Amino acid sequence: MTALRLEASILPLQTRHLFRIARGASRDFRSVWVKITDGDGHEGWGEAAPSAFYGETADTVLAALQRYAPVLPSDPWALESIERDLLGSLRGNAAARAAVSAALHDLCAKRLGIPLWQWWGLDPAKAPKSTFTIGIDEPAAMQAKVREAAEYPILKVKLGTSDDTAILRALREVTDREIRVDANCAWTASHAIRMLPVLKEFGVTVLEQPVAPEDLDGFETIRRHADIPLIADESCIVATDIPRVVGKVDGINIKLAKCGSLREAIRMVHMARAHGLMVMVGCMIESSLGITAAAHLTPLVDIVDLDGAALLANDPFIGATITGGQVQLPTGPGLGVTTR
Ligand code: MG
Repeated sequence: MTALRLEASILPLQTRHLFRIARGASRDFRSVWVKITDGDGHEGWGEAAPSAFYGETADTVLAALQRYAPVLPSDPWALESIERDLLGSLRGNAAARAAVSAALHDLCAKRLGIPLWQWWGLDPAKAPKSTFTIGIDEPAAMQAKVREAAEYPILKVKLGTSDDTAILRALREVTDREIRVDANCAWTASHAIRMLPVLKEFGVTVLEQPVAPEDLDGFETIRRHADIPLIADESCIVATDIPRVVGKVDGINIKLAKCGSLREAIRMVHMARAHGLMVMVGCMIESSLGITAAAHLTPLVDIVDLDGAALLANDPFIGATITGGQVQLPTGPGLGVTTR
């Protein structure tokens, strides 16, 4: 058997609107398309969606992949040991490792000739509806984005500004749809507690990551006052982070670009369940290739936030869709992703 061969190329992505969250704004994103081929003409694909917040850029992904490529054996089925060997070769670099993991799972399921979700024994019809994200902007511009997103029944509103109450009031003027909020670490616990009645007034149903990643005591304090679920995103990266958030949050947000592998993501689902936590699957700004890999977790979770590709002006791939908010997994072999 010949060794698996890895190729990588940059995918320049552009969002339809300037995408602003509490810690910054951009319209241009660069992710990395990973292709792994075996000696029999099969090809698996994955996407690395690096985030500077987690210490990665497209360039660090390319550099990391140069370390990972020689570690790949000839046998793609040895998924557990391959992922362990990648970590042994170079730690961190979760987005890069997640792309390799997705490409290997795509390759193996293509060799089986079945969709990855079928190999995993999942029922795609079990996927909850996805939220659609409304990035931070002037309240009138956010109202316009809400109208533009008319097909999506659940909105996820980014907050963490000096105008958060005005934003929620403005959005409630134009929609009666479900609203969830993500403050991306921008609040303190005391500010979050002051915001809870405001969130209630405007019918917000979920609060994601109000406080700084390390402020688990802040989470716990807010939770004593909150009657909506609190979800840890930046505070929960990998499975071993889960025990320390138990009792302080109601759920965790799993992202492949944080946890570094499809297998780690599934371990996180089960560990969270064992601790009685809700499970959410989220994404970065990424194309339908990365979104489709993450969408394979949707039959296992409570909350889905996989709008990364729907926010793009130039998605190069066709894969999982969230038409009307409903996640639809592809039916082709592997991840089922094709180029547009
Ligand atoms: Mg978040």
